[in-house]
Amino acid sequence: APVFTIEGLKAQIEGKEILKGLSLEVKGGEIHAIMGPNGTGKSTLASTIMGHPKYEVTDGSISLDGEDVLEMAVDERARAGLFLAMQYPSEIAGVTNADFLRSAINARREEGSEISLIKFIRQMESKMKELEMNPEFMHRYLNEGFSGGEKKRNEILQMLMLDPRIVILDEIDSGLDIDALRIVATGVNAMRSEDRGFLIITHYQRLLDYVTPDFVHVMMQGRIVKSGGPELAQRLEKDGYDWIKEELGIVD
Ligand code: ADP
Ligand code: MG
Ligand code: MG
Repeated sequence: APVFTIEGLKAQIEGKEILKGLSLEVKGGEIHAIMGPNGTGKSTLASTIMGHPKYEVTDGSISLDGEDVLEMAVDERARAGLFLAMQYPSEIAGVTNADFLRSAINARREEGSEISLIKFIRQMESKMKELEMNPEFMHRYLNEGFSGGEKKRNEILQMLMLDPRIVILDEIDSGLDIDALRIVATGVNAMRSEDRGFLIITHYQRLLDYVTPDFVHVMMQGRIVKSGGPELAQRLEKDGYDWIKEELGIVD
């Protein structure tokens, strides 16, 4: 089972420090939720883990099974089994969904053991059916003209197809209607396994009604300031974040 560890992580963008010493450990079989007010650095954390070049790590460490993630190039991180469903997935003109997924799957395989086209199409068709996606999305250019909800479903399709070891979902629930939310949650729950850990970043508690986390962390001002169980998410939904600021003497 994977062990994913972040220790004392500091990261900045354009000289502005956003992550200010964040520590977290996610093990196979566990679902961690990170909640926090807007602008607190949640997406920065996700992008930093995946190696987005905009973010500069100035201190701390990230490791997967003892391997130094910060030393890996972006594609090596994906090959090691890190997966990010982005808050704002990008559109890629000229690359179809099927092309993109097939090369992503093959990039994780040894040379000579690439997935056959027939097997790939069968898998993709069956996963798309599970997600109640229109089969025509297979041949559309990646995210081009997709609605917000279609983009999010497509991110979940990638997750199902790529079989990652550590899954990071960044506000996968934002902009989803209740049916899409249920479908996304079903996909996540179907992927729950001892061989996989989840980091679910969410602004609202509602996804956590369908996917029960083992741990809930509150992120504020670039750090995790409080951790608990699912009851913490319910309290945040009911009372917001001010009580935590008061409790911890955070001024913003
Ligand atoms: P969250 O996901 O918690 O809403 P973000 O990680 O998106 O927060 O943003 C954290 C902080 O980093 C915010 O203050 C935001 O304005 C800043 N930030 C994010 N992206 C950029 C950027 N490209 N340039 C400058 N500042 C940025
Ligand atoms: Mg935000
Ligand atoms: Mg964000």
